[in-house]
Amino acid sequence: SSSGPKQEVKTTCPYCGVGCGVIARVSADGAVTVRGDADHPANRGRLCSKGSALADTLVPDGRLLHPEIGDRRVSWDVALDEVARRFSDTIARHGPDSVAFYVSGQLLTEDYYVANKLMKGFIGSANIDTNSRLCMASSVVGHKRGLGADAVPGSYEDFECADLVVLVGSNLAWCHPVLHQRLLAARAGRGTRIVVVDPRRTDCVDAADRHLALKAGTDALLFNGLLAYLDGNGHRDAGFVAAHAAGVEEALAAARADASDIATVARRCGLAEAEVAAFYAQFAATDRVVTVYSQGVNQSSQGSDTVNAILNVHFLTGRIGQPGCGPFSVTGQPNAMGGREVGGLANQLAAHMGFTETEVDRVGRFWNAPRVAAKPGLKAVDLFRAIEAGTVKAVWIMATNPAVSMPDAGRVCRALERCETVVVSDCIRDTDTGRFAHIRLPARGWSEKDGTVTNSDRTVSRQRAFKAEAGEARADWWIVTQVARRMGFAEAFPYESAAAVFREHAALSAFENGGTRAFDIGALGGLDDAGYDALAPFPWPWRAGGEPQKRLFGDGRFFTADGRARMLPVTAKPLPRSVPDGALLLNTGRLRDQWHTMTRTGLSARLSAHAPEPRLDVNPADALVRGLVDGGLARIATVVGEGAGEALARVRVTDAQGEGTIFLPMHWTDRFTGGCVIGRLIDDGAVDPFSGQPDLKRMPATVEPW
Ligand code: SF4
Repeated sequence: SSSGPKQEVKTTCPYCGVGCGVIARVSADGAVTVRGDADHPANRGRLCSKGSALADTLVPDGRLLHPEIGDRRVSWDVALDEVARRFSDTIARHGPDSVAFYVSGQLLTEDYYVANKLMKGFIGSANIDTNSRLCMASSVVGHKRGLGADAVPGSYEDFECADLVVLVGSNLAWCHPVLHQRLLAARAGRGTRIVVVDPRRTDCVDAADRHLALKAGTDALLFNGLLAYLDGNGHRDAGFVAAHAAGVEEALAAARADASDIATVARRCGLAEAEVAAFYAQFAATDRVVTVYSQGVNQSSQGSDTVNAILNVHFLTGRIGQPGCGPFSVTGQPNAMGGREVGGLANQLAAHMGFTETEVDRVGRFWNAPRVAAKPGLKAVDLFRAIEAGTVKAVWIMATNPAVSMPDAGRVCRALERCETVVVSDCIRDTDTGRFAHIRLPARGWSEKDGTVTNSDRTVSRQRAFKAEAGEARADWWIVTQVARRMGFAEAFPYESAAAVFREHAALSAFENGGTRAFDIGALGGLDDAGYDALAPFPWPWRAGGEPQKRLFGDGRFFTADGRARMLPVTAKPLPRSVPDGALLLNTGRLRDQWHTMTRTGLSARLSAHAPEPRLDVNPADALVRGLVDGGLARIATVVGEGAGEALARVRVTDAQGEGTIFLPMHWTDRFTGGCVIGRLIDDGAVDPFSGQPDLKRMPATVEPW
């Protein structure tokens, strides 16, 4: 019987970038219940439907319990020896760039750190990329270009002291629900105005004062128009711009060339002139504005430029660094930010450093590494293409399911099928990607693993274990450490705990930093094990001898060489793919109650009740012309590379969907319903030239009744 609590552990929810604090309680009989942590700064006790159902998704079934080679159960020693032997062999025969890791925003920072160190410092290639490439790579580029560092300027508290919150390409109500709840609570208190910029009428619109249902892919133009309007109507913050910004006139010239007047903007964005004028006037008249953006901006072939178009309006008006002000990127995954910090992207080295000679030298000395990668590696799309082409011959995939989630998932499957060595670390055995594995390594899941994560407002929190691992599952950092030792790098991989990895990560962030790099948690370089266990959530930077920084840029100093914010000239681009007559633009995204490819949330009856099957949202006018009826089945067809993409889904006719567009959720896989795998519908040819992020939201598709 369940008597009193056995233990209560503070940890964080693994289901989105809000990063809510959770208190998990394990009863004497092993039953787990969760509640929101009132002390956590991200949620102050709140949880959304996914967080509340965490106990239902602990997934006793389907776990990968033992290492396997082929379908044969083997010991850890045999499996680790085999991984090390295969990677070492491939490197000896074909060089460091013939191997790769593809990792995940589901990893903890410590896992990410060790994997990155092995690949970039000791194997000597930068071929480690992450599924965060599909999530926020464009924001990283935009931040670095505009702010001089990949640092979100504000904190969630800014949502609560803003007078206007503009949501651009962000369905906050479903994808970051607790943050949306906080915004609604603030609105009830202070009358915060909310503007939604989104081709779809999402649930966010219910509480919004204005919905700009612009044409897909015209957001950069809308913000260019806003920049030109603000300057043309006397809203430039001349003092801020003169002291703290650069590139102003170039950015304005580009904006004016693109969007000289409101009539032009309205026509090109497919909006009424009065709507655009009212939004621009509202922005101009409100001092405290936060512009929140997410995948609608990032997952685009002009995502990086759109981020800079948003940053530009905040720089011109000095709306940054003050309470209730600033551009605000919200990330999809629980630890996309942690991955960015350690260098989990192929175009970063470590601790926010890149590949300049100084940085390569500095990291090399810190790691005492024999062959630090001197140039960026392959980004996700190029990485799987290189596997298909046979130039990358061994890949280790950790905690992600690219056979479903990557664009042109068919190509990813073909690539993995022909790859000489595929290692998959996961907590679930039969994933779509796991089918291709030569070696399967059981990883600990949420509730079993220990480490840190960083959420969308730079708050670093502990994730803590409160259950014994399933079978022989091990922490990802431990698995990589063991392989590194077997590849001959024992001295550089001495870790016996997540705390030891964290200390090194913190020390590297401060190494020869001199206060010039944004990411610096040097204050924690000497943290002992007890301190790590007890570590309370804090925002970075936290420099040695200083305080954690909730809000950046209050002093007008940016992380660029001259300390000035960079305004970037942006020119809005047309759609990346030609749209044949009769085609609709396929948009993809999340549902409220599912997570990624459903390997965990798909097992909760409660969560699945919200949307038991994938629905294709179609505007009534588009449905009528095509003979599609609500509740009927439709066949969706696309052209993917040389081949064809196809899916079947039940139709929902709804005027929430803009004319000319359709929406399909991203979650379903062959495991849950055959015939509707989003990655097979989208080609991988349209990517942002700077960030490598694929355009996942504007794929031309034909739809007919089935
Ligand atoms: Fe978890 Fe995100 Fe929901 Fe918070 S908002 S409970 S982090 S899914």
